[in-house]
Parts: sequence; C-alpha cells; structure tokens
Amino acid sequence: MQSRRGIPVSPGIAIAKAVVLDNDEQTVAKRHVAKDKIQAEHDLVDAAIADSLKDLEDLRGQTASVLGSQLADIFGFHAGLLKDQAIVSRFHAVIDGEQVTGAYAVFSVMQDMADQFLAQDNAFFRERVSDIYDLKRRLLTELMGEQRSALSGLTEPAIVIAHDLTPSQTAALDRKLIRGLATDLGGRTSHTAILAHALGIPAIVGLKDITRRAATGDTMILDGHRGHAILQPDAAQLLESRQEARAYREEEKALKGLRDQPAITTDGTEVTLLANIEFTDEVPEALEYGAQGIGLYRTEFLFMDDDGVPTEQQQYETYVAAIKALGGRPLTIRTLDLGADKIAPGLMDLHDEAEPNPFLGCRSIRLCLQHLDLFRTQLRAILRASSEGPVRIMFPLICNIMELRQAKMVLSDVREDLEDQGIAVGQVPVGMMIEVPSAALQASVLAKEVDFFSVGTNDLIQYTVAVDRSNERIANLYTGAHPAVLELIKNVVRAANHAKIGVSLCGEMAGDPEFTLLLLGYGLRVLSITPPAIPGIKRVVRSVGIERCKRIARKASSFDNDREVLNYLREELNRITPGAVAGRSMNY
Ligand code: PEP
Ligand code: MG
Repeated sequence: MQSRRGIPVSPGIAIAKAVVLDNDEQTVAKRHVAKDKIQAEHDLVDAAIADSLKDLEDLRGQTASVLGSQLADIFGFHAGLLKDQAIVSRFHAVIDGEQVTGAYAVFSVMQDMADQFLAQDNAFFRERVSDIYDLKRRLLTELMGEQRSALSGLTEPAIVIAHDLTPSQTAALDRKLIRGLATDLGGRTSHTAILAHALGIPAIVGLKDITRRAATGDTMILDGHRGHAILQPDAAQLLESRQEARAYREEEKALKGLRDQPAITTDGTEVTLLANIEFTDEVPEALEYGAQGIGLYRTEFLFMDDDGVPTEQQQYETYVAAIKALGGRPLTIRTLDLGADKIAPGLMDLHDEAEPNPFLGCRSIRLCLQHLDLFRTQLRAILRASSEGPVRIMFPLICNIMELRQAKMVLSDVREDLEDQGIAVGQVPVGMMIEVPSAALQASVLAKEVDFFSVGTNDLIQYTVAVDRSNERIANLYTGAHPAVLELIKNVVRAANHAKIGVSLCGEMAGDPEFTLLLLGYGLRVLSITPPAIPGIKRVVRSVGIERCKRIARKASSFDNDREVLNYLREELNRITPGAVAGRSMNY
C-alpha cells in the first residue's frame, strides 16, 4: 500500500483499477505482465534492437555518402550502445526483476542512463544525453508503434492517471466508466479541475509523480475530499473507504432532497443559486441539482474539441437548445474566453503557441477584439437566440473601460445589422466579469456602463496574488482567503450596490461552503456554482441569518492573513452546519 497526497479538486471517493496514460514526451507507463508473458517481452526487446541496428546501419551508410564519415559516426555511436551487452542485459534484468513490459524496461534503463550522463562534470558525457534520448525514442517507436490510447479500449470502470490532461481531454472522458481522475500537475482552479467537478468525477491534481508510482491495473482508492491517492490498498483500508463512499453517497442523496426547497436564509432573505456550465447538455443536470438558471456558460468549450469551429448557425442552435432546456430561467452567455490553457484546435492560427506568458497574453476578450470576425459571429448567434428566451451577455477579462466600450460597440453594431435585416432580437442585459484587480479597483467607474458584474475569483485570485492557478508547486499560495482578494470582492459588491446594478460571483469560491457566510455578509445574493456543489451551498444559506453573516464578514475582514481568515470561517461554519466542512471544502 502506498499513499500520495495532492490537491483535492472534486469530491467523492472512487475505488477502481488504475489506467495510466502515457504523456506526449514518451514517458512510458509502468505496466506489469503475467509470468507466462515475460518471454514474449524479452523477444520484443531483442527484435526492436535488431531492427534498430539495421536502420542505424542504413542511416550510417546514407549519411557517410552525403555528409562524410565524421557525421555518420554519430550513428555508429548509437549502434555501439545497442551492441553493448551490459546495456542489453539491463533491459532484460528489469523485465524479469520488475515483471514489466519491454517498453517500460527500455524506458527506465535509458532514462537512468540519461540522468547519469547529465549528472557528470564532464561536458563530453553531458553532450551525449541527446544521443541517449534519440536512441530511446527509436527503440520505443519500434516497441510501441502506433499506440492506441489507453482510454479507447476501456471496458470496465477505471481511475485515470495522467501527467496532465487538457480541458478538452477531460471533457471527452466517458463518464460511465471513468470513476476518478489523478494527475501529476494542476492547481485548484485549473480548467481541468473545474471540469472534473462539473462532471461529478472525484479528482486530485498536483500529485507530482503519481504516473511513475502507479501501474495500469493497480487497485486504487481516490479520496477527492482529502486529496489522498492510495495505491494497492490493504483489506482494512478498502473496507474503510467503501464505508466512507457509501456515507458520502447517502449524504449526496439527502442534499439532493433540498432541490425543491428555496435558497432562503432564516430571516427570509432570498439568495439565487445559478449554475456554471460548459456545454448545453449540462442544463438538465444543473436543474436537477436545483439551479435557478445559468450564471456562466463557458462558450469557448464549444470551440475546443476536434470538430472544428462552429458556424453561426451551429452556435445559434446550441444556445437556443440551452434556452429551451431552461424553460424561462435566465441564461448568461459569456463570450469566448479562449487562450492561456483553453486552446481551440480549429483556431490555431489565432493562438500564438510561443507566447511567453499566455495567462498575461492575448486571451479572452483581447483575442476577440483582435479577431472581429470570430467575435461578431458569436454575437450574432447570441443575439438571434435571445429572441427565444431570457439571455444575458457577459464579457470576460475586461481590464479597462476602453475594452468594455469597444466590446459594447461591436455588440451594438451587430445588433443594428440584425435589425436592418429584420431579424428579431430580444432585450439583452450586458454585463462583464470582474477577474482582474484593475477592474475590481475601478468597479465604481465600470458599473456606470454595464447592467451587471460577475466576479470571477478563479482568475481574480491568480492575478491578485501572482500565482498561476494551474501550478501545483505554488498551490499553497493560491487562496481566496487572502485579505487582498477579500478587499477586492467587497469593493466590487459595494460599487455594484451603489450603482444599483446586479452582482454575482461565479468563481469556484461560490461553490465552497467555507466562503458562503462571508459572501452573504458582503452583500452577495447571487452565486453561480458548479452544479454538484449547489445543494451544499443551499444547506448553508438555509441555516443562517443575514445579520450573523454580516458580523462574520466584518470579523473575517479584520485578520491580516489567509490562515486566520480560513480558520475563523471554518469554525463559524461548523457552528452553523456541523459537518459541512469535512469533505466539501476545496479551500479556494
Ligand atoms: C473565473 O475566472 O473565476 C471564471 C469563472 O472564469 P474561468 O474559470 O472560466 O476562467
Ligand atoms: Mg476566468
């Protein structure tokens, strides 16, 4: 039994076999083989060496005739390594000793050699490292050929283990079979983490080396509350985790029972709980969890799969389908927030992959304002759809008022075009996200030009404390409880209330019960939440009065560091709804 600790990002307990995905850099997953298959692995390695030697001889001959014998000797060096019996017998020893595939044996021996060469003082050896990598790649290509993705052949429930997953890979996971997700990289509000939560898949990120520790086929427990990944658990641990998983499912069921209860505080203050979604087909489930509408539709996800860029008509139909599914409840459509970690394969000519700081780069509204065709097409689709039901438009990542004015100008231009063409358009409130400190600090100015704000704390935190939201190495510094973040949120709510415009909060903080009392105390009455977290927040709302929340918010704002803020909020929450913290907080 081995236990690793990472960052819990989606609650729930999963018990299943692990499937370890190889990453693009030819990290080879450790796969065990049955005893009677070991000889076949030895044969595969010998055949790969023989084929590689033949290729190297050919290459050596061709290079010698074109470029001369000195350069051709490089391949002579590669061939020499492959003929070195000491190296070849190390491959075979790993297969026998660890009962693993030939591919893994080659990978681990060559990797060790590269590490040893790199550690040398001698420049000659360090320069040979690229030769080792080259040879490793050659052998692995012989051994593995065109690899089928480990996920495509999945037939039984599994916990997926990967170095990292892109948001689109996560979105494509088969929910029927994927029981959990564990990655080496990632932070609390990376989009992969948000998606896993939205999909209701227990997940841990930032486990650092889980891909090296786990082997496909290992039994595994993934505790998405505490962030524990347990490999090859013993019987006692399995029993305990199964009991916890059952208790969690029962609590989920009880919480879902709150679905038809209003989100009203004990003194009768109404709170609106909306849902965050990435795809239209999430709407029915969001309603199941008790959402009163959609507070954030992340439309960029429509552009992030391999199906290409959706046309205006396709976008229109997608939005209309969401409006219909909502049956009169509001739909807040956020315009494209592409860039940084959200890449659209069909728009690669717009993304600059060499951008040194993509989170500070040409992303989101900036990208749209530089590519007006793309932006106008989306706005046309949204405005056309708005004649079918209540739609609101929201611009992301606004960082100065000129940007907001430009976006609004494009919107009114598109509206005029539609009206000229006699196409019906509804009344569409226009809002913006507050997710950079410059916008939060200028909230009272910006409030004069929009109908509503939505505070995006996922980005607001990262830009306020200068911590990349998807970097596990500095995840301890990423927290919404930082007094500077609290100050900004307070300022935004105050400015919105003063200007009498709407204000909501749609970052992951909205779905963390630890912050609910504080946010209500600051005056927020609309929260937009990842659907599975809605019932837990409703339970807190229904258990407290607003005056008490205000007192709690005042006291929380008096601390000078995030630890004290969090400890205090945790204590207060525990007094009001005992048990709500354990297992529910993601501590954003
Ligand atoms: C946010 O930044 O808080 C937000 C809701 O947007 P996203 O997570 O999509 O960046
Ligand atoms: Mg954001």
